[in-house]
Amino acid sequence: MSSSQPPIGTERKVVTELPGPKSRALHERRRQVVSAGLSTGFPVYIERGEGAILLDVDGNQFLDLGSGIAVTSIGHAVPAVIEAVSQQVADFTHTCFMVVPYEEYVEVCEELAALTPGDFPKTTALFNSGSEAVENAVKVARLATGRQAIVAFDHAYHGRTNLTMALTAKNMPYKEHFGPFAPEVYRAPMSYPYRDGLSGAEAAQRAIAAIESQVGAHNVAGLLIEPIQGEGGFVVPADGFLPALSAWAAAHGVVFIADEIQAGFCRTGDWFAVNHEGVIPDLVTTAKGLAGGLPLAAVTGRAELMNAVHEGGLGGTYGGNPVAAAAALATIRTMRELDLPAKARAIGETLSTRLHAIAAESPLVGDVRGRGAMMAIELVTPGTTEPNAAAAKAVVAYCNQNGVLALSCGTYGNVIRLLPPLVITDAQLRDGLDVLAEAVRAAS
Ligand SMILES: *Cc1c(COP(=O)(O)O)cnc(C)c1O
Repeated sequence: MSSSQPPIGTERKVVTELPGPKSRALHERRRQVVSAGLSTGFPVYIERGEGAILLDVDGNQFLDLGSGIAVTSIGHAVPAVIEAVSQQVADFTHTCFMVVPYEEYVEVCEELAALTPGDFPKTTALFNSGSEAVENAVKVARLATGRQAIVAFDHAYHGRTNLTMALTAKNMPYKEHFGPFAPEVYRAPMSYPYRDGLSGAEAAQRAIAAIESQVGAHNVAGLLIEPIQGEGGFVVPADGFLPALSAWAAAHGVVFIADEIQAGFCRTGDWFAVNHEGVIPDLVTTAKGLAGGLPLAAVTGRAELMNAVHEGGLGGTYGGNPVAAAAALATIRTMRELDLPAKARAIGETLSTRLHAIAAESPLVGDVRGRGAMMAIELVTPGTTEPNAAAAKAVVAYCNQNGVLALSCGTYGNVIRLLPPLVITDAQLRDGLDVLAEAVRAAS
């Protein structure tokens, strides 16, 4: 437990070449036994974390601007989570909720019913991963509507299982040679203001026209969308796009499913990203930030949809595991106590100001976008909108070498995304942004 360890402190610190000798040795061991199909952005092996800092096996300290892809939003080694998880491990670790139930599962569902948008009866089913939550949202939408088609969007990312691969847009590395894919998945054009120049209403019209002509509204069970796209490049749809799609779905008996797995749980400055436009989904999928680093995911939505499923139709051995559920309760309590939506908005202001300044000084930056503590820069060939993946790679590598963990993303691999822990201090955030600014300067 962290309490028995010396504190890590709050600063990044590079004390060896990177990766250091111990990390290199571990990487060699890994090569013998870990499938080469798993990639690693930066092979420094982590020993401990604290707040926004990760300590590696060589004594290097990294400022974490990725939160393990929006998972550790409340930071690393949070005392409330350590305590809740330790207690739960000591009490019991598993029963299988479908065999004999326990209170923690119910309490997480109560929290999700209260926190997700919509003032109507809601029920929830818990799972282990985001992909599993998306799969189950699709099951519910199909069963409740008696229809089969699911519409997903360009640049979408919904996971790596067979059905969610089909829902994910990008081929490499997610889909290549992994087919055949699940049928009855259709793709509609996304609103991508930097690249399509359309208003939200225009982009929604384009998407709806495509769905109506290629699928038929009466065949559509569900419309599945990330309110701000994650892996696809932090694409924020133009204002009005989500409300127009949600209204169209309601008018045609289509289940509107918001995939809030990356954007949800305080990340964008509100509990859920759809709240910024007052959109009320029929079903919401959550995972990542929900449980402070433990694997937990959920589908929450209108009781009449969720409860339409026959008894035994949803479930799984580990879904809603008591240890993960205890971690989620501690995480949600921490988010409330620290008012992390407000903290995410403040982080967003610092990010926005600084990223726009970086863009003003570098022709590599084509676009700055995002909301709250989920912001990105899209890098292009200067003077064009041509995606510049090489520059993004160079910027991330520079940050890594200087003790800052930053992530890239995007259909074209040219977007640098920032997902700092929401407990990052102002000094840490400014320090990380100084390094990012230097990195962009060096790549320019
Ligand atoms: C990460 C992610 C998923 C998949 O979650 P896993 O836990 O990796 O299966 C689905 N949707 C979105 C929007 C995500 O960001």
